[in-house]
Amino acid sequence: MVNLKKIEIIGAGPAGLYSAILLKSALPQARVRVTEQNPADATFGFGVVFSDSALDFLRADDPATHALITPRMVHWRNMTLSLRGERVTLDGIGFSAIGRLELLQILQQRAADCGVGMSFDRPVETVDDLDADLIIGADGLNSLVRRSDADAFAPTLEYFANYFAWFGTPREFATLTQTFIDGPRGVLNAHHYRYAPARSTFIVECDAASFDAYGFAEMDESESARVCGNLFFGTLDEAPLLTNRSHWRQFPRLWCERWVAGNRVLLGDAAHTAHFSIGSGTRLALEDAIALVKALKSETDLEGALDLFQAQRLPVARKIVDAANTSARWYDDFRRHMNLPALEFAFSYLTRSGRIDMQRLRELSPEFVAAYENYLDSGRASGR
Ligand SMILES: Cc1cc2nc3c(=O)[nH]c(=O)nc-3n(C[C@H](O)[C@H](O)[C@H](O)COP(=O)(O)OP(=O)(O)OC[C@H]3O[C@@H](n4cnc5c(N)ncnc54)[C@H](O)[C@@H]3O)c2cc1C
Repeated sequence: MVNLKKIEIIGAGPAGLYSAILLKSALPQARVRVTEQNPADATFGFGVVFSDSALDFLRADDPATHALITPRMVHWRNMTLSLRGERVTLDGIGFSAIGRLELLQILQQRAADCGVGMSFDRPVETVDDLDADLIIGADGLNSLVRRSDADAFAPTLEYFANYFAWFGTPREFATLTQTFIDGPRGVLNAHHYRYAPARSTFIVECDAASFDAYGFAEMDESESARVCGNLFFGTLDEAPLLTNRSHWRQFPRLWCERWVAGNRVLLGDAAHTAHFSIGSGTRLALEDAIALVKALKSETDLEGALDLFQAQRLPVARKIVDAANTSARWYDDFRRHMNLPALEFAFSYLTRSGRIDMQRLRELSPEFVAAYENYLDSGRASGR
């Protein structure tokens, strides 16, 4: 193990807290400090999802954290697509969800139990003054650590075309559901799922034409919530939409060519983003932390360990980021896909990341594939 004495971590999101837990457990004598700009009980958004098996890596690597998180999660086996009111069940497409704040509070508690020093409500203004053997930039999309040496990290940052706003609602949904509607001024989609009793995430998404037609740019978050609540009235069953920094944004597509510069390393959203439609950003952040600490454990010098981390972790993360980008592009084009009949629309949705062939789909979602093949056969028979 690299003999580190002082570790400074910027950002107390999943990447920062989890790397702190792992590092303090591996190096009990080291000073491990996390500094966060926001208060401990503040975060953006509502619940986050993990694909069905997404926490298996935690079970194998860190059973203690896995045991704390999983009982607090909501699980379901199938998902639902709703296209203009016509519903298709996608059997076997399971997910688990948890409130983002709840996840952070579990990690905060575990970090405190391990002896990690945490300061909240304290933005780090400059990286150069930090006295540390290792500086971890777990400071999210606008990472100060990344900006401190942009030439070395070589980031590319672009934005997907669609606009989205992340709302919550007290209405509970039976499954993770994607609801695509024709509103009076244009098409919209909602990604919605429950993550706690009487709490669901409700992300509304639309293309630029709908965004302009509804005038969302001129609305504050409460007016957007009211208007979207009315548009998705049938789905919400009269429940209101709740806000938490729910302003309209375009999803960023960030990738850094390098995640290491000297004794500075980037983890999670500071290094890469993954569109929320594949539910992987948090998992990637946790896995980055695991990979970093594994590399530090397997080497004795910091430079060698960071090189190893970068060489091993980047290609793995790249594959997931590529799948997330392909998925996001499908959403950017959802207006066009909505012209398909519901089962074809569902097939297009399921195969959108290009990583799933018919055989795999048949294993994963046998009832859906049977319904889809029946539909194709009846189409052939009728000459459709
Ligand atoms: C709409 C939406 C839905 C999402 N849904 C999902 C989902 O369902 N599943 C999923 O896995 N992922 C989801 N994600 C992605 C997920 O939120 C991120 O990938 C994840 O939070 C990344 O963790 P992180 O620790 O790298 O960064 P963050 O969670 O962004 O944490 C970074 C922290 O650093 C702090 N910070 C920044 N600068 C400073 C500074 N100078 N000083 C001190 N502190 C600083 C910030 O305040 C923040 O707390 C979603 C994202 C969005 C936008």
